Amino acid sequence: MNYNSNYIGKLTEELGRLPGIGSKSAARLAYHIINMPMDQVKNLTDTITQAREKVCLCSECFNLTDREVCPVCADTERDHRQIMVVENPRDLAAYEKTGKYKGVYHVLHGAISPMLGIGPADIKLKELIKRLEGDVDELIIATNSSLEGEATAMYISKLVKPTGIKVSRIATGVPVGGDLEYIDEVTLSRALDGRVTL
Ligand code: ZN
Repeated sequence: MNYNSNYIGKLTEELGRLPGIGSKSAARLAYHIINMPMDQVKNLTDTITQAREKVCLCSECFNLTDREVCPVCADTERDHRQIMVVENPRDLAAYEKTGKYKGVYHVLHGAISPMLGIGPADIKLKELIKRLEGDVDELIIATNSSLEGEATAMYISKLVKPTGIKVSRIATGVPVGGDLEYIDEVTLSRALDGRVTL
C-alpha cells in the first residue's frame, strides 16, 4: 500500500531492522529524518558510515577500537598480568565506567551456547589461551550469570586450571540472567571485589 512515497517505506523498513526498534518507532524515526535539515541528515549518515568503516577489533583483547591496539591495552599503567574475560565490548565498557579495574580485558564476543549451536571455536577462546602463554597472574571470569555465561566460565576454568594461573569468577552480586551492561556501577565494583577463586 503506497499512500506517500516508497522512499519513506524503504527507510522505515531499514530502521525497523535495528534492535529494539518496532515498526511504530521505525515509522516515527523515518518521518523525523524526512523533516531534518539536510546537513544534519548528512552528518548522521557520514557518522554511521565512518564508525562502521573505522572501528575494528583490538589485536590483543578484541575490544572495539579504531587503532591496532585499544587504549586499555596500550595503557602501560595498567596491570597486564591481570586479564578479565567478558562476553562483549558493552560489558567491558560497563567495567570501565566503575573506574575500579586496573587490569586488562579479553573480549570473547559471545558465550558458549549448545542451544544456539555456539561452540568454543565460535568465540575468541583460542585467542585467550594463546594470551595465557605470556606473563599472566590472574584470569577473572566476568561472563554473564546466564546459563551460557556460566557454561562458558566453567569451560574456561577447566581449560586454564592445569596452567597454574589463578582463575577467579566475579561474585554473585550480579543478578542471575542479568546482562552486565544494565547493572549499576556499585554492584559491578562489589562483584569484582568479591570475586572467588575457582
Ligand atoms: Zn585491547
